[in-house]
Amino acid sequence: DSPKTSNFLRQIIERDLEQGTYADRHWAGRPADAATQQSGPLDPARIRTRFPPEPNGYLHVGHAKSICLNFGLAREYGGVCHMRFDDTNPEKEEQEYVDAILDAVRWLGFSWDAHGTSHLYHASDYFDFMYRAAEYLIGAGHAYVDEQTPEQMRANRGDFGRPGVDSPFRQRTPDENLQRFRAMRAGELPDGAAVLRARIDMASPNINMRDPALYRIKHAEHHNTGTAWCIYPMYTFAHPIEDALENITHSLCTLEFEDQRPFYDWLLDRLREGGLINTPQPRQYEFARLNLTHVLTSKRKLKQLVDEGHVSGWDDPRMPTIVGLRRRGFTPESLQLFSERIGVTKANGWIDFSTLETALRDDLDPKAARAMAVLDPVRLVIENWDEAMGAGHLEPCSAPVHPHQPERGQRRFFFGRELWIERGDFEETPPKGYNRLFPGNRVRLKYGYVVECTGADKDAGGRVQAVRARVFPETKSGTAGSDSVKAKGVITWVGAADGVAAEIRLVDHLFSVPHPDTGERPFLEELNPQSLQVVRGFVEPSLAQAGGDEKFQFERHGYFVADRKHHGPDHLVFNRTAGLKDRWGK
Ligand code: ATP
Ligand code: MG
Ligand code: MG
Repeated sequence: DSPKTSNFLRQIIERDLEQGTYADRHWAGRPADAATQQSGPLDPARIRTRFPPEPNGYLHVGHAKSICLNFGLAREYGGVCHMRFDDTNPEKEEQEYVDAILDAVRWLGFSWDAHGTSHLYHASDYFDFMYRAAEYLIGAGHAYVDEQTPEQMRANRGDFGRPGVDSPFRQRTPDENLQRFRAMRAGELPDGAAVLRARIDMASPNINMRDPALYRIKHAEHHNTGTAWCIYPMYTFAHPIEDALENITHSLCTLEFEDQRPFYDWLLDRLREGGLINTPQPRQYEFARLNLTHVLTSKRKLKQLVDEGHVSGWDDPRMPTIVGLRRRGFTPESLQLFSERIGVTKANGWIDFSTLETALRDDLDPKAARAMAVLDPVRLVIENWDEAMGAGHLEPCSAPVHPHQPERGQRRFFFGRELWIERGDFEETPPKGYNRLFPGNRVRLKYGYVVECTGADKDAGGRVQAVRARVFPETKSGTAGSDSVKAKGVITWVGAADGVAAEIRLVDHLFSVPHPDTGERPFLEELNPQSLQVVRGFVEPSLAQAGGDEKFQFERHGYFVADRKHHGPDHLVFNRTAGLKDRWGK
């Protein structure tokens, strides 16, 4: 576990636990019980949070922060976190998204096993209760059916400098409102013809308090309730009710909802007056949403990238979705570590993408097996190999699976007359400070021998076809003579005889600008044309056995993962997760 640092949410929770704020709370164990206000089994006092996505897309790295926060705090303080689908928007929601969201939460390392069950909560479970709550508000004079056009409603809401104007329907009697609301529910009115609104204050400085909409008409089938309803509650109406019925204690949301908090409290106070709610008030707390450089965090826009084919799917390794990050090689632990490190604050800002990569490296450094890979291969020919070692000789070499964990054993591979090296590890005329291969220079091939470069073969266009060198046969790594010839640099390599061809996907930022979608340009113009480069390289033979999703540190190159979808023993495919922080061998 990562070390926990205090933040304002932990302070609030600790104070609540210390003061026994929730000590005498009657816990309703099931939403069904809660909705009928029968008390459920009594739980010891504990906090209760919720993670409430709308199933309208795949979750992204911002949601990962929210998941780690809500499930993480509940776990840390012995509480419960409800997995709840905020499914109040029937047209955009799909079962595929529901399944993907549950997968993502599980993969991140969390479960929703309160009471030993895997109960899922849905906003739609409470549609009956919400409808009764709406009728109560109407009867008590707190809500009315407005039949202005959407344009009139928008104009009459006013704006920051201008108070709103009362709707001509605002003074309808409760009976009249009830009759119209029932007509809405009965399907007698088309979409958009009327909405139910709270009657609060059209002159409020907080625009969210200017008679917000509670219910709208949508003749749409719902993935959970089918055709039972043609009116659906607004999110702002539904959410506080869901929290109250589920006995949520700390309702954590992003800062955009700060201005909704007065309505959240207003609504629950009204329902409590009416006896519809008798649980203690859940409290909403806002924190800054995650903005990550080079990344878009909006399900709607990510969906557009998928639908328009800018990426290969929701799980394209360039996508900031949880499935995309997973396919790129990020681990649940790295995302948890990242969430803990960025913490929660009250001020919006940008987190640098490198923070995410650092968390990945810190997680994988002790875990990932090392391997050698050549990403931009050129042949190295050892001219004196046959005479020094014997024609066709292959010399067995080995390297630790992990440099600090000898118990993990050794990788084995062969050194021979021909090897693959990086094209960039040879320069005919070396720039200043270059200490890799150039004519006359001596270099160690890591875990192998010291060689002296003698030159290179070039094609008609001057492109290097093969680099040439002579081996010092007594310098094998790990033998007594290994130091007998001094080498200026060290380079990595793969044997031409036993190296395995691999497709390597060099994944980079999907957006070339650090703050996509914040400037004048449409975000599609900010896509990085170099975000995915596919190269054919060679990897050491131990990688032929790699399983899909297995992670490695390719020495000098960074962290790579065997692609979950396309990698197999007959076609090796690795995605670059992140580079190494400290590059060596300049
Ligand atoms: P999007 O605009 O991407 O669809 P959303 O906020 O509408 O995001 P929800 O499905 O409603 O998506 O989000 C579920 C939870 O995740 C909410 O509590 C929301 O506050 C939180 N969340 C969403 N995006 C972020 C983010 N970038 N950083 C932190 N939390 C987030
Ligand atoms: Mg939302
Ligand atoms: Mg949204």
